[in-house]
Amino acid sequence: MAGIYSAEVRMEISQSVLVCGAGPTGLVSALELARRGIRVRIVDAALEPSQLSKAAVLWRRSLEVLHPAISVEQFLSDGRPVHGIQFEAEGDILQEIDFGKRYGRFPHGLFIPQNKTEAIITKALLSIGVQVERGKEVKDLLSGEEHVDVEFADGECSRFAWLVGADGAHSTVRKCLGVAFPGSGVDRRWLLADLQLADVGQEDRIRMFLSNAGLLGLFPYGNRVWRLIADAGPADPTDSRRDPTCEEILHILRSRSCLDWTVEKALWISEFRINERQVEQYCHGRVILAGDAAHIHSPAGGQGMNTSIQDAVNLSWKLSMVMKKQSAVSLLHTYQQERHPVGAAVVQGSGRMLRVMMSQNPLIGFFRRWILPYIVGLPPVRKEAVKRLSEVDVTYHGGLLAHSKSDRWIGRRCPDVSWGDDGLSIYDLFTGTGFTVLRLGRGLMTDTMWNRVIHTAGPDVTVVDAAMPDGTVAEEAKAFAQSLAATDGTIVVVRPDSYLGPVSQDIEVVLSWFRQLHNSEQ
Ligand SMILES: Cc1cc2nc3c(=O)[nH]c(=O)nc-3n(C[C@H](O)[C@H](O)[C@H](O)COP(=O)(O)OP(=O)(O)OC[C@H]3O[C@@H](n4cnc5c(N)ncnc54)[C@H](O)[C@@H]3O)c2cc1C
Repeated sequence: MAGIYSAEVRMEISQSVLVCGAGPTGLVSALELARRGIRVRIVDAALEPSQLSKAAVLWRRSLEVLHPAISVEQFLSDGRPVHGIQFEAEGDILQEIDFGKRYGRFPHGLFIPQNKTEAIITKALLSIGVQVERGKEVKDLLSGEEHVDVEFADGECSRFAWLVGADGAHSTVRKCLGVAFPGSGVDRRWLLADLQLADVGQEDRIRMFLSNAGLLGLFPYGNRVWRLIADAGPADPTDSRRDPTCEEILHILRSRSCLDWTVEKALWISEFRINERQVEQYCHGRVILAGDAAHIHSPAGGQGMNTSIQDAVNLSWKLSMVMKKQSAVSLLHTYQQERHPVGAAVVQGSGRMLRVMMSQNPLIGFFRRWILPYIVGLPPVRKEAVKRLSEVDVTYHGGLLAHSKSDRWIGRRCPDVSWGDDGLSIYDLFTGTGFTVLRLGRGLMTDTMWNRVIHTAGPDVTVVDAAMPDGTVAEEAKAFAQSLAATDGTIVVVRPDSYLGPVSQDIEVVLSWFRQLHNSEQ
C-alpha cells in the first residue's frame, strides 16, 4: 500500500483526515473537523443513508455540544421535547416522573428518529462543502508513524494523516488494527417496532410497562407514531435473528399495557440482540476509534448514539489542534482519558438497568414492581436520574485537563444560564470553533493582563468582556457569574466542547493552563 509522494502531496496528506463511516459519529467528526478548516474525506460503504429510526432520543448534552455547529432549533423543528417518563403496570400508573417543562435553552431530551438526526447533520456538513462518499468501503489499512495508508474495496489506495474509525459495531477499522472488542452478548431476544397507533393519548413522555412477561417501552415520535421496544425472553445464542410478526407485536403491546391499542400501520419491525463490549484503547497511533466502533451496550437509557456524538465532539477539537500544530499529539491522550470512562459507565449502567428490567427472580420482580417506581419518584433521585439520562452529569473534573484542587468548576459542563433578558443562554456565545474566554468584571485585572490571556488562548478564541466601566460584572453576565459564585475579575475559560477550563481570578493559573494545553505537557 506504500507509495512515493511529492513534497506538495505530502503536505496535503499531512492535513487530511479520513472518516470511515457516516453514521452519527462519523458525520459529527467530519463536521467538527471541517468547521475548523481540516481537510476531511468521509466515506460510507452503504449506497444510501440508513432510513432506520434506531436511536429514538437526542439527549440534552448532545444538543448542547452540537449547538455551535447546528442550532438546537434545527433539531427542535423535527423533534418533540421529552417531558417525562411514566411507569405503568396492570393498567395502573405507578409513577410519573416529570422532567419539568421549564428547561433553559435546551430540552432535557428530544424524541427524534436517528435517520432525521443524521439528515440534519448531513445537511450541516454539506453546507460547508463536505459530501459523504457513498458506496465507498474501507477494506484494509496500514498505520505508520506519520500517516495511514488505506485500501478501499473499489481498488483506490490513499494516504491520510489520520483516520477516524466511526464504522460502527462491526468496525472494519477495528478489525484491521487487530484490536479486541472484549465483552459479551446478552442471550435474550429484543423486539423493536415503529408503529402508527390509533387513540394514542399524550405524546410527550416515555411509557414503561412493567410486567412479569417482560419490559415494554413506548417512545412517541409524534403524529401517532410510537417506537416500541420489548423484551421477548431468552434466546439461544446459536439461533439466528427472527423478525417478529405484527401479530406478535400487537399481542405484546396489548397484554403488557392492558390497553386496547389499534395498530394502523407497522413502519418497521425488527429483532435485535444486545452486546456489551468496549475496546481498551481508543487511540492506536494515527487511527482513532469512536462511537459504536469503540463501545456497544444495551439500549436501556438510550445512550448509544448520544455517547457516540459526544465522543466525536471531544475528539475533533483536539485532533484539529494537533493537526494545526497548536498542541502536541499527546493532547489526544485526553480523548482516551476523558471518553473511555464515560463509555465504560454507559456499558455498565445500561447493563445494570437491563438486568433489573429482565430478571425473573421474584425478589427483583417485587423490587421492580413496588419499590423501584417509588424510589425514582423521590425528588433527589428523580433529579439525578434526569441528569444521568440527559448526560449533563458527565464531568472530566480531576482529569488531565482539569486537575486543580482549588478550582471546583474545571472540567465540569458549563451551566446553561441565561445571558441578558432576550431569552439568550450563555451557550449562544459559543459560536466559534476555539475556546471562549470570559471576563466577569475587572476586579484587579489590568487590560494588559486581560490581553495576555486572550493572546495565550490561541487564534480561534472568542472573547467576551463582561466588565462595566466601574469594573463590576456586566448586567447580562450576572446570572452566569452567580451560577459559578464568581466574584469581580474572574476569568472563565470554556472549552470548544462547552466543558469548563479554569475559572479563576489568578491570571497565572489561566495562562499556565493554556501553555500546558498548547504544549500538551499533561
Ligand atoms: C436496532 C437498533 C436500535 C437502536 N436503538 C437505539 C436507541 O434507542 N437509543 C440509542 O441511543 N441508540 C440506539 N441504537 C444504537 C445507535 O443506533 C448507535 O449507537 C449509533 O448508530 C452509533 O453511531 P455510529 O456512527 O458509531 O455507528 P453506525 O450508526 O453503525 O454507523 C456506522 C457507519 O459505518 C458504515 N461502515 C461500516 N463499515 C464500513 C466500512 N468498512 N467502510 C465504510 N463505511 C463503513 C456503515 O454503513 C454505517 O453507516 C440502536 C441501534 C440499533 C441497531
